Amino acid sequence: MVNQDYYELLGLQRGADDAAIKAAYRRLAKEIHPDKHNGCSEKEAHFKAVSEAYDVLKDPQKRAAYDRFGHAAFKNGGGGHDPFGGSGFEGFSDIFSTIFGEFMDPRGAQQNAARGADLRYDLELTLEEAFTGVGKTITIEALARCETCNGKGCATGDKCSKTCATCGGMGKVRAQQGFFVVERGCPTCRGSGEVISDPCTTCHGEGRALGQRKLAVKIPAGVDEGTRIRVTGEGEAGVRGASSGDLYIFAHMKRHSIFAREGTTLIADCPISFTTAALGGSITLPGVDGHKVEIKIPAGIQSSEQLRHRGSGMSVLNGRGRGDLVARILVETPSRMSAKQKKLLEEFRSTETGEECPATKGFFSRVREMFGA
Ligand SMILES: [Zn+2]
Ligand SMILES: [Zn+2]
Repeated sequence: MVNQDYYELLGLQRGADDAAIKAAYRRLAKEIHPDKHNGCSEKEAHFKAVSEAYDVLKDPQKRAAYDRFGHAAFKNGGGGHDPFGGSGFEGFSDIFSTIFGEFMDPRGAQQNAARGADLRYDLELTLEEAFTGVGKTITIEALARCETCNGKGCATGDKCSKTCATCGGMGKVRAQQGFFVVERGCPTCRGSGEVISDPCTTCHGEGRALGQRKLAVKIPAGVDEGTRIRVTGEGEAGVRGASSGDLYIFAHMKRHSIFAREGTTLIADCPISFTTAALGGSITLPGVDGHKVEIKIPAGIQSSEQLRHRGSGMSVLNGRGRGDLVARILVETPSRMSAKQKKLLEEFRSTETGEECPATKGFFSRVREMFGA
């Protein structure tokens, strides 16, 4: 961070226009660019200072802040550091956005103080509802426009406000905070610049009161756990007719009896008999759209193998088409059999040759070798 005046550094007058600033910077940059001076540290420092000045003056917002607060507008926590040194530069823009976010736009500050808060509503949906999309009527309990005064805040008539004495109608007050002079919403009038002389008894001049209302909302197809749907202007009412906040609906998914979900893929565990696993066959699944989905099972399938049926999964949010349906095969071993079944299986076994567990292959022969047997 340099201490020299930015305008002075560029050899400019305070009111210089954009073209003059650009021209001055170009001329200086050509003259003192470090590449031309074999790394002379003094020239390099000068070049950095000029670049820093240009970076601020070329940007109308930064320039306005500098005109108003001087170098203090960009000092980070008081440690005058080089804004071009690595992370320091990020700090520079961060502090900058903090400043502007909060108070550089007086209209914005006023609006923010009076604007209603955003609301959150958690909505639980079934998989079927998320698949097709659904209309829901939800009940919201929040600050709403006062019906007694129609949001004006006055006991009688439409206008009962006078200019706030604390801030002189500006809606904001100045205060020293560390190195900054910050402007905040006025605590007396809460940023509106006016105070109510004859307040409505229902809302005490706020123009809004706690109320319950029903709201019809449309949930699009394909929403998933955590999907956020914004309903503009359906949040908390603003102070005395100021704009309302927004409502955010957070989708939550109920557990489904058959399907687990991974994005647009639906996964179902499908137990099949060991004979079907050995000989092949087919299974039928109830699809999320109500249609039956038949899945062919190849002969010799193993437990936990997955069979994919394309286009039978979840709908895609804000898109076309569908994901896949996946059947996860679980081969079931019979625990109860009739005498006849048992006999048939015994017969089947007699045709098989004894198999050694692959994981312990060679184990017995190694033991025999060890004992010289
Ligand atoms: Zn009222
Ligand atoms: Zn005030």
